[in-house]
Order: sequence, then C-alpha cells, then structure tokens
Amino acid sequence: MKSKVRQRQPAFAGHPLDRADNVRGDPRRLAELTHAEARVLRLEGLIPRLGEDKRLQWDRLGDVAEGVETVFLGLLEGEPLFAAVPPSGDPDPAYTRRETWAALGHLPLDELALYGGARSLLDWHARHRFCPQCGGATVLAKGGWQRNCTQCGAEQFPRTDPVTIMLVERDGRLLLGRKVGFPEGSYSALAGFVEPGETIEEAVAREVLEEAGVNVRDVSYIASQPWPFPSQLMIACHAFADDDRITVDTTELEDARWFTREDVSEALEKGPESTSFRAPFAIAVANHMLRWWLEKDDDQADR
Ligand SMILES: [Zn+2]
Repeated sequence: MKSKVRQRQPAFAGHPLDRADNVRGDPRRLAELTHAEARVLRLEGLIPRLGEDKRLQWDRLGDVAEGVETVFLGLLEGEPLFAAVPPSGDPDPAYTRRETWAALGHLPLDELALYGGARSLLDWHARHRFCPQCGGATVLAKGGWQRNCTQCGAEQFPRTDPVTIMLVERDGRLLLGRKVGFPEGSYSALAGFVEPGETIEEAVAREVLEEAGVNVRDVSYIASQPWPFPSQLMIACHAFADDDRITVDTTELEDARWFTREDVSEALEKGPESTSFRAPFAIAVANHMLRWWLEKDDDQADR
C-alpha cells in the first residue's frame, strides 16, 4: 500500500519558484530581468506585510531606495521576483514575535515556503556585510546567492545549518521533552545541531544520550524542513531506544517522558484542550513527525 505519509510535506517545504541558477550566473540576463517594474517582496525588516487577502504583497523594484541591495529570488512562471536586504538581521529568535507568527498562520503553503526561503537569504546578507577572513566589506554577487570580499576576494555563500530532530520509540511509546520556557504542558521531539565531524545518525544518538540519558539504535530518516529562524535544515529522524530509563539533563530540558499513541493522538486532535500534552505548532516539523508516527502504525496495521 502506498504510504499516505509521503503525500504530505512539512511547512516551509514546496518552494514554488524556479531558482534559475543559470540566471544568477549570467550578468546580462540578470540585468535584463532587474527592471523597475519587476516585483519585490513587501517586508518590514524581515516581517511579511500581508494584504487584506492575507497573501504576500509585492512592490516595484523601481521604488526600492538607492543603494539598498536586492536579491533575485527566482522565476515564477517566467516572472522574476526580488527582495530587498534590510539594514540589519534579526538578533532575536524572530519566531517568538507575535507579528511574525500571526502572519505565518495565514499564508498558504507555497507562499510560506517562498517567504521562508527569502527570509533566510535576506537575514544572511544583513549579517554578513564583513568578510570572516579579513574583516573587509563584502558586496552582494550572483543575484544574491554569494557575497564577495572587496579586500581579499574571498567568496561567501548563504548558510544552512543542519539540525537533527528525532522521535525515539520504545514499546510503542515516544520519548518527548520540554525545554525550560516552553508554554505550559508543551512537549516536543528532542533536537540539536549536527556538530563538525559528525554524521546525522551520530548526532541523533549523541543528542538523545546527552539530553535524556537514553541509548538509541536503528536511526532512520523521515523528512526534512527548511526552518527560516534564521536558517536551519531540520532533519527529522526516527530511532529505537535500548531501554526506557530516562535521565534528564536539566541544563537542557525541564522534563522528558514517554507518551503513548493515545496521548499523541489526543494532543494532535484536541490542541490546547488536550489533557495529555500540548503538541508542537502546526508549522513545526515536530508536529509533522507526530502525525507521521501515528500514520506509520496505521499503515503497518493495514498490511
Ligand atoms: Zn576578505
């Protein structure tokens, strides 16, 4: 039977543009597309400004102030789309800002992906105006998919930082944890950055052992999600635990515990009214993972 799971994508996936790498590297073609009537994404800093229809809004490239850098986001049915680099990046985890959350909750999935990609790229530009090699000023290149140092010539490329996030399973139950500062009753999948010199599987095992004192095996891949706050690639994995004894590292987590299938199902169905725990936000990959887990077992039961 074909899995239902594969038909659904996490939020921020499904970027609708042709990224048109050939255009980025062709200064003449790029100059042709960079005309005053071309559309530029309407933002305030990095916050999307939606119209009354709750969709992204677009201004004219010709109205962008002189000297402001613009990035070429790609082609939408042949039409070039741009976005302007704000004066500064976002020093806060912007997803905690009410305004951003409120706007994201309204956007259809393709626009959510478009905004997420643009946001990560713009934030990177705003925070990389100086060369990490020599401290010289950098300038935007290749339509915004590169920055070059004006002093030493070093080239910099937009970053994506891999983060593992994992469902750990034992006897039909899932290990979930809550960090200090999570909303009351909220639990989510454990997660952590992949460190230099580490595989995805090793990062999963290390994080679970560090945070919950649990050894895991048989790590497998579920899905990935570009997370634009500021620029992570969330790599969703599943693993089995060797035993169910938990030792919480209280510097990382407030609590971690095992949840049954009924608990997870209730949390997803009842939202804030749930008495088991509060599930992660719908746009978080952890929410997608919990649904995947419930459906995975449904699929197995169907066989
Ligand atoms: Zn330099």
